[in-house]
Amino acid sequence: MSHDVVIRGPNAVLEEGLRRADIGIDGERIVEIADAGSLPKGKREIDGADLVALPGLIDMHSHHREPGFTHKEDLITIGRQCAAGGVTTSVAMPNVSPPPTTAENLDGMLAIYRERAMVDWNVNASGVQLDEIPKLAKRGILAFKIFMVVDTGRSYPHMPGIGLHEHGELYKRMQAVKRTGIPLMIHPHDQSLMDAIEHEYWGRGERDFRAYAKAYAHDDGVIWDTAVGMLLRLQEATGVRLHLLHTQTRRVVEMLRAAKAAGRPISSEVNPWCFWLGNDWANIEKWGSYALSYYVAPHHSEAVYAGFVDGTVDIMATDHAPHLREEKEPGWTDGWKAHTGTPSTQFYLSLLLTDVAAGKLTYERVADATATRPAKLFGLYPRKGAIRAGADADIVLVDPEGRQTLSDADVLSKCGWTPYAGREVIGVPVHTLLRGSVIFEDRAVAVREGFGRQATRVS
Ligand SMILES: [Zn+2]
Repeated sequence: MSHDVVIRGPNAVLEEGLRRADIGIDGERIVEIADAGSLPKGKREIDGADLVALPGLIDMHSHHREPGFTHKEDLITIGRQCAAGGVTTSVAMPNVSPPPTTAENLDGMLAIYRERAMVDWNVNASGVQLDEIPKLAKRGILAFKIFMVVDTGRSYPHMPGIGLHEHGELYKRMQAVKRTGIPLMIHPHDQSLMDAIEHEYWGRGERDFRAYAKAYAHDDGVIWDTAVGMLLRLQEATGVRLHLLHTQTRRVVEMLRAAKAAGRPISSEVNPWCFWLGNDWANIEKWGSYALSYYVAPHHSEAVYAGFVDGTVDIMATDHAPHLREEKEPGWTDGWKAHTGTPSTQFYLSLLLTDVAAGKLTYERVADATATRPAKLFGLYPRKGAIRAGADADIVLVDPEGRQTLSDADVLSKCGWTPYAGREVIGVPVHTLLRGSVIFEDRAVAVREGFGRQATRVS
């Protein structure tokens, strides 16, 4: 019997490891994985002989900007970047307007996604409104999100109404989210310490991008470490499944390692800027606020990388955070006036593959960190997250030897720039399949508005 699609003979990252295989697809699902060359000719054949097949990427942390900030990005522009970058499921963060703090707001947002999203999706609802948490949990979401940061000096990206940092208030939200059984994502940040640190810089008249970068990394990353120490203790008190965002210090990796060794339900992400951008002060000097997300001192970046390699740091999520140039420019003189964050959806797989080519990472760990483990942590597995019979046919085929010099001209984001411009990557996506449909090939995006579907929990 011939399959709808046969991907012929790629080096496939399967759950048991890397091997040459034929992948047979019928409709939206993978139905058969067989020895290379053994499946009968498919109705459509994709030659995978020189390619590596990875499970489609599941990005648990992306700022799609719709609704409310569609001058920065929208569901069409993010969808195109996902297709080109091998991302088949992209999950939104709640700093949009109106924010999904209530069931009513979330329903409005879900309606927009159903109509417009191009790849599979979900929305991490805000967990700040205590009485809304049980209602939000019934909308098929994969996680709640709380920002502990509330911005000073600008109105975005961490606007009032979605931030919460009082310990007692966090404790109550953890109890409420625990009752839903859904994981809670937290952006750790010690607001009280940050207030004190910021005022030291400002008191000395230091406000430029360098001051901003150093303030957030002040005292060897103290604002991150104290926040995570507190959160881990509250997690133990409440039993909530806690997922920590933006891992970027050595001490946080040590705390994670200890908490996991004790068998506690804790997981964490790292973002591309921690390894390939904000870890080099020369990038900050060159790009100013365009290189900030955050500055991560090299000894921290190396510790997080080691934790990422051994799986202590579970997943990579993009923290894709596009802003227009005019929103970044003020950062040269006042880092607190620039919108913080960097775009990364389109190229992060290539950045990972470049490290595979250099022998620092394996294909297996890349698939685990970008697809299998996010799927398992957030309930999408085994429907998504692995190349296996019965799963959605979400697959990215990459040319492991393909080279590309990244440039602003290739950027599909509305922002029109990438902080990775000028660097050569080794390993580029060639075909992306979402539920059996080819959504990227021949360097072109081929997916329509509304094709994406809400990816809900199956386990
Ligand atoms: Zn973010």
